[in-house]
Amino acid sequence: MNQRRRHAPSDIPSHCELPFWRGNVAEEAPVHCSYCGTWMDDYYDPGLWDVSFEDFAAVHEAKIRDPYFNGPPLGHPHVILRGDIVERKVCLHICPACGWWIAEDRAVLPAMHWQHWAVTLASAPVLERFALDDIGVPLQQVRRHLMQKFEARASMHPRLFELTVASVFGDLGYRAYATAYSNDGGVDVILEDGSGARIGVQVKRRRDAVEVEQIRAFLGALALGGYSRGVYVSSSRFSRGARKAARHSTQTVIPIELVDADRFFDMLGYAQLKHRPRPEDCNISRTRPLTLYGHDYYHLNAL
Ligand SMILES: [Zn+2]
Repeated sequence: MNQRRRHAPSDIPSHCELPFWRGNVAEEAPVHCSYCGTWMDDYYDPGLWDVSFEDFAAVHEAKIRDPYFNGPPLGHPHVILRGDIVERKVCLHICPACGWWIAEDRAVLPAMHWQHWAVTLASAPVLERFALDDIGVPLQQVRRHLMQKFEARASMHPRLFELTVASVFGDLGYRAYATAYSNDGGVDVILEDGSGARIGVQVKRRRDAVEVEQIRAFLGALALGGYSRGVYVSSSRFSRGARKAARHSTQTVIPIELVDADRFFDMLGYAQLKHRPRPEDCNISRTRPLTLYGHDYYHLNAL
């Protein structure tokens, strides 16, 4: 099937940079995810889309007709294409942590007379908008969305945040289960490590800092529940008094570890690596072709 493609300005965020084409992919810098900053996994030639010489040539033609084109005039042998492709790079960059991807297809087109033009076509998904106030959203989708838009945690359903925290600890090697939503005795998630010790986790989805009184109440819940350790996870931060109280408890009564928003983001990113998406998870197929946009265009003197 011959698909006609439209070459519009790229839909890839302007802060997204594909590496400069050096002609050798082994020498190229890795691509960072524009949303969560993780290095993306590269899948070369995944066989999910077709691009012809004409698709690349159309971008070149549009560029040389642009009145601001800073090169030889139309019809000059330096800009008339020979009609073939001498180098090609087809790559699907996928973020292992949040699942965002960039499809990149780059070709070097020789001109009649000793000049080469490099054209990059690319495509990337627009981030889905969805609300995290519904506890029915699948946890893996929630976790990817949090990696992309961590600020969304502020409007999350508190129970969904608890379930997310439990699933992250599960990927970090604990047996983790969330307690009943109501009447949890101050412990939202229970962890068991390899030694069989029970660790109580308090999860607070809140905007303001956790204060010392909440650490004291948590210490009471840990003692009454017979837990050997405690972890307090906050979607914001801890006051200085709360940190001091946790330190004091660790030295004298029961160890309490504090996980603030930054630390939880790191834990989530690490846990996500257990769920690396593959090219087939990106919803691209030959029957659902990509729209590739002209992303990058430049002149190479010689290869
Ligand atoms: Zn990402």
